[in-house]
Amino acid sequence: MDKTILVTGGAGFVGSHACKALSQAGFCPVVYDDLSNGVRDAVRWGPCEVGKLEDEARLAAVIAEYKPAAVMHFAAFIEAGESVREPERFYQNNVAGTLSLLRAMRAHDVGKIVFSSTAAVYGNPKFTPIPETHGLNPVNPYGQSKLMVERILGDVAAAQGLRFSILRYFNAAGADPDGELRENHQPETHLIPLVLQAAFGQRPDIAIFGTDYDTPDGTCIRDYVHVADLASAHTLAVQRLLAGGTSLTANLGTGRGFSVREVIDAVKAATRVDIRIRLADRRPGDPAILVADPSRAARDLGWAPRYADLAQQVQHAAAVLAPSR
Ligand code: UDP
Repeated sequence: MDKTILVTGGAGFVGSHACKALSQAGFCPVVYDDLSNGVRDAVRWGPCEVGKLEDEARLAAVIAEYKPAAVMHFAAFIEAGESVREPERFYQNNVAGTLSLLRAMRAHDVGKIVFSSTAAVYGNPKFTPIPETHGLNPVNPYGQSKLMVERILGDVAAAQGLRFSILRYFNAAGADPDGELRENHQPETHLIPLVLQAAFGQRPDIAIFGTDYDTPDGTCIRDYVHVADLASAHTLAVQRLLAGGTSLTANLGTGRGFSVREVIDAVKAATRVDIRIRLADRRPGDPAILVADPSRAARDLGWAPRYADLAQQVQHAAAVLAPSR
C-alpha cells in the first residue's frame, strides 16, 4: 500500500516538485495549500485540500482523514524583502502556522516532519563553503522565522519524541526536467527567471544588484540547486525518517557558486539572446557569497545532485518559461 505524506505548500514551486518525486517513489502526496502562491494546476499526484496553515481544525480534519505517515512542510512566505516590510505577517504564517501544524500532528500521532529551511538562517556567513555547524544569525524576518521553527522542532523533538529533517536550501533553481511543472512566482524576484524574462523580451533588461562585491567579477555568488534535486532530497529524508532514522539538519546545495554575471552569461548561451544589463545598487541584506558545504546531505541522506550544472538548470528553466509560440 502506498504511504501517504501530507505536503503543506504542495502547490508551490519546490512543494509540487517534491510531490512528483514522492509519487515516483511510491508515496501518495496529499497537498494542503491555501493557493495564495501555489497553483492548483501544479497538484497532480494526489488530492488537493485547500486550507490555511493557521486553521488548526481544518488541518486536524485533513490529517484525521488521510492518516499520513509523515509531513513535508513547505507552506511559508518566502520573500526576504517582503518580510522586512511586513514582519508580523511572516511570523504569523511561518511560525504561528507551524505551531498549528505541530499541534494537529500531535493530536493524531504523526511524529515525523521534513521541514523546508533556508541558507538565510546563516545570515552573513563568516566563511564559505558553509557547513551546518556555522553560526546562525539571520538578517531578515524571513530567515528569523525559519530559524525559530528549527528551534521549535528541536524543542518539540526533545519533549515529545518528534523526529525531523530540517533541510536548508541554498538557491532553488531550474525546473521540472520533463517540463510538466512551471515555476510561478507572482511577481517574480528570482535571478534566473528574471534573466530569462529579459531574454524573452518580457522585460527591458536585467538589473545587477551590486558590482563592487569582494568576488572575482564583483557580483554576488550563489549556490544554485536544481528543484528536482531538492525534491529528491526530501524523498530521501522522509524515507530515512520512516526507516527509523534520527533527526537531522542538512544543507542542500551543490557546493559550487556562480556569480550574477555567470548566470546572465549562461542564459545568453542557452537562449542565444544578447541581454541588456543595467548596473544597479546593492540589494540590502545580500551577502557577497553563499555556497553550501553539502557533505552532510551526501553522507546522511545519500543525496547527490543530478543537475549541479548551471547550464542545465538554465536550460530546464528556459524550456518551461519560454513563451509559447
Ligand atoms: N539579483 C540581481 N538582479 C535581480 C535579482 C537578483 O542581481 O534582478 C541577484 C541578487 O542580488 C543575488 C542573486 O541575484 O545576489 C540571487 O538572488 P535571488 O533573489 O534569485 O535569490 P536570493 O539569493 O535572494 O535567495
